[in-house]
Amino acid sequence: MKDSILVINCGSSSLKFAILANAGQDTLMEGIADQLGSDTSTITFKYQGEKHQKPLAVGNHEYAVKEIKAWLDLHPEINDSLVGIGHRIVHGGETFNQSVLINQEVINGIQECASLAPLHSPAHLKGIDVSLALFPGVPQAAVFDTSFHQSLSKEQFLYPIPMDLYREHHFRKYGFHGTSYRYINQQLDKLAPGSDQQGVLVAHLGNGASTCAINKGKSSDTSMGITPLEGLMMGTRSGSLDPSLLTFIMKAKHLSAEEALDVLNKKSGLLGVSELSNDCRTLEDAMISGDERAKLALDMFAVRTAKYLVSTATTLESIDHLVFTGGIGENSVYLRNAICQQLRAFNIKLDDSLNNHAPRGEVSNISAEDSHTQVWIIPTNEELMIAMDTISLIQGL
Ligand code: ADP
Repeated sequence: MKDSILVINCGSSSLKFAILANAGQDTLMEGIADQLGSDTSTITFKYQGEKHQKPLAVGNHEYAVKEIKAWLDLHPEINDSLVGIGHRIVHGGETFNQSVLINQEVINGIQECASLAPLHSPAHLKGIDVSLALFPGVPQAAVFDTSFHQSLSKEQFLYPIPMDLYREHHFRKYGFHGTSYRYINQQLDKLAPGSDQQGVLVAHLGNGASTCAINKGKSSDTSMGITPLEGLMMGTRSGSLDPSLLTFIMKAKHLSAEEALDVLNKKSGLLGVSELSNDCRTLEDAMISGDERAKLALDMFAVRTAKYLVSTATTLESIDHLVFTGGIGENSVYLRNAICQQLRAFNIKLDDSLNNHAPRGEVSNISAEDSHTQVWIIPTNEELMIAMDTISLIQGL
């Protein structure tokens, strides 16, 4: 075993982690510290096919990283092979257009972006701070969800609002899921050499969902905006709607702006429409049992995803590839079919049999023979991308 990388993903109330080795090809261990900030927080390690869960003595990011360090101390072979740590960072603002090795300047830069991601940035900074203290001398990298979309042109990333709001406050579209899109782009280039000179559409459909157009290897448009709320209907997020609705909701339900925004972020989307669940699998089961609201939620999800695919595709010269990824994109036969049905006018067609029988967790091409666009399922792997970035930054040292 060599070149192990610890990947750390600090959310506001969770910390996901993984150790990848041998150029990221092997996941040696992975886990999650959950419900941070409460007194019922736990940490779970999955190692050699077994899960071990224990309560966290103190439910915060610092203790979670301490537990990971303690686990490594008990597994000296893995500990000795650790060459770097990669941190997933949600928001890099306009400061970061690629992954970087962490130093004080980078920490200051992440701090400056905190107003754009007030829930995530403090957690990221805490994770970095603790990791630097507990793993002295181990190089650490920051990998940003936003950096892949820094290639968007001004026409695409600006909102049509008074420009002093952009100049003074940096209010613009940033986009997210960039690490996933970069990974998909690399994988597609291996599967379909030359795709880096073509037009690619990607639908990253998970609990959070977005689309991205990749023109000749570079992101040219994406559906998420200054926050992940813009664009597609998602598990619990509404996606785009008339912004005036916010004030209607505030008045109708006597809510503050933050509370009304919470309705759009946490109570809408598949959950809000189905009044049942944000989980696609649960909704598909319910639909099969005849639940009309579950079917409506899924069909709205499909229609809106197709609309955003077409909208982001306006930045391409041709739509040569369409890739489905994320938990829903990789697994939902029903939604892939419903989305492609909406794209008939664009000659994007999948083959029913290939779609129905696509092997789980594997790459497959599900295009119909007469489809103008190659339709793919490519499982995403953001941890691997973070590990690979970290390795290449370390190699440049
Ligand atoms: P995130 O990383 O954004 O939390 P994921 O990419 O893990 O989300 O995707 C979670 C979604 O994928 C859930 O809605 C889940 O129901 C859906 N999903 C996972 N497996 C299947 C499946 N076999 N069929 C349909 N949907 C699935």
